[in-house]
Amino acid sequence: MADVFTKEQRSLVMRQVKSSRNKSTELKLIQFFKTNHIKGWRRNFKLFGKPDFVFPITKNVIFVDGCFWHGHNCRNTKPKDNKKYWTQKIKRNKQRDIEVAKHLKLNRWTVTRLWECRLNTKELTKRLREKLYMEQS
Ligand SMILES: [Zn+2]
Repeated sequence: MADVFTKEQRSLVMRQVKSSRNKSTELKLIQFFKTNHIKGWRRNFKLFGKPDFVFPITKNVIFVDGCFWHGHNCRNTKPKDNKKYWTQKIKRNKQRDIEVAKHLKLNRWTVTRLWECRLNTKELTKRLREKLYMEQS
C-alpha cells in the first residue's frame, strides 16, 4: 500500500505527535511528584535510552510509553493504514525497549515503565509510591 507521507513528512509528523504527548504526560507526572512531595527527579538527564524521568541519587528511572509507539494492547493501538509498516516499526520499538531496560538494570538502575493510557493517580500511586518514597524518606 502506498504511503501518503514522504519520509521527511512522516518524521515531522512523528516528532510532533511525540513532543505533544511528552508534554502532557510529563506534566501529569510532575504534578504527581509535587502532590506527593517526591523530589530528586530530573528531566533530560543524559542516560542510555533517554528515560523520561531520572532520579540520579536513588537510581530510579521512569519511562512513559506511548501506547501506539510501544505496542500496548489497548484501544489506543490499532493501526489500520500501512499496517505492515507500523507493525514492523512497533516491533522494533519493543525490541529496543527490552534492550534499554536490560542495559540499565545491568548498571543497577531500577526501571519503571508506565503506559500512557494508565497515567492516573491510582496507577501512579500503586506503581511509584513504594519505590520512590521509601528511598526518599
Ligand atoms: Zn495503552
